[in-house]
Amino acid sequence: MVRFAVHRHDVQEKGANGPRRRFAPGKGRFHDMSIIDHTLTDRAPPVLDLAGTALFLDLDGTLAPIVARPQDVGPDPRRTAILADLVRRMDGRVAILSGRTLAEIDHILDSAVRPAAAVHGLDRREPDGRHNPPPPHPDLPDVAAAFQDLAARSPGLLVETKGLSVALHYRQAPDQAADVLALAQQWSDRTGLKLQPGHMVVELRTPGPDKGDSLATFMAAAPFKGAIPVFVGDDLTDEPAFRAARDLGGAGVLVGPRRNSAATHRLEDVSAVLDWLEAAL
Ligand SMILES: [Mg+2]
Repeated sequence: MVRFAVHRHDVQEKGANGPRRRFAPGKGRFHDMSIIDHTLTDRAPPVLDLAGTALFLDLDGTLAPIVARPQDVGPDPRRTAILADLVRRMDGRVAILSGRTLAEIDHILDSAVRPAAAVHGLDRREPDGRHNPPPPHPDLPDVAAAFQDLAARSPGLLVETKGLSVALHYRQAPDQAADVLALAQQWSDRTGLKLQPGHMVVELRTPGPDKGDSLATFMAAAPFKGAIPVFVGDDLTDEPAFRAARDLGGAGVLVGPRRNSAATHRLEDVSAVLDWLEAAL
């Protein structure tokens, strides 16, 4: 079994100024690295080791480009083929961790991947298909009404209800960001719903597990147990999963521009992610 020879204290003590062992691109695989350094998120990830890895993937901004209206994202034959191959070659050690609902994940990915944690980790579907979502927070309808009320007065705002959460998208009305965030904060304070900011979106969700918790839960059981977790994601909601993967001896791959992140590696965009995944097959 291949392993990262890395512990948290190595990262903390040697991260910023201490010794670093550089990873030679294309020469090795994840487990060859002796130091994971969260200050070096500019490194491209090595070729994925299908035999020893458990792969956790965000969806929007990672496997699918972000578009103006989230409902416009649909299936893509190349992406579906890559995922189906990965699931087969990795003996099922592939899971989706997304802010979307399970129904949306299945639609966009052509049901290629069964293990999934939807709504940012809240709604987890096991590898055998079992699925027991928590009850939605009782104040969500009031929040949805308040979001709709603001959206009715502000063209470009888009309300998305997901059962366990309500999202307010402002990608098409960026000048509304301050009002959107203030309203969301107000309702979070009032109700105890968890405030979940993202790229041009803010969401109030039923309190519960996040993506990092879900990754750790998947890793505790077959077929993931014993493998090295690698998580790929782009957004703020992905940071707990980057940390969880690292804490379990694995790695995180940030998608998009370089930023402060718990990820250990970085890829530029969705197309680079698909190329990287395909290179492992
Ligand atoms: Mg994303």
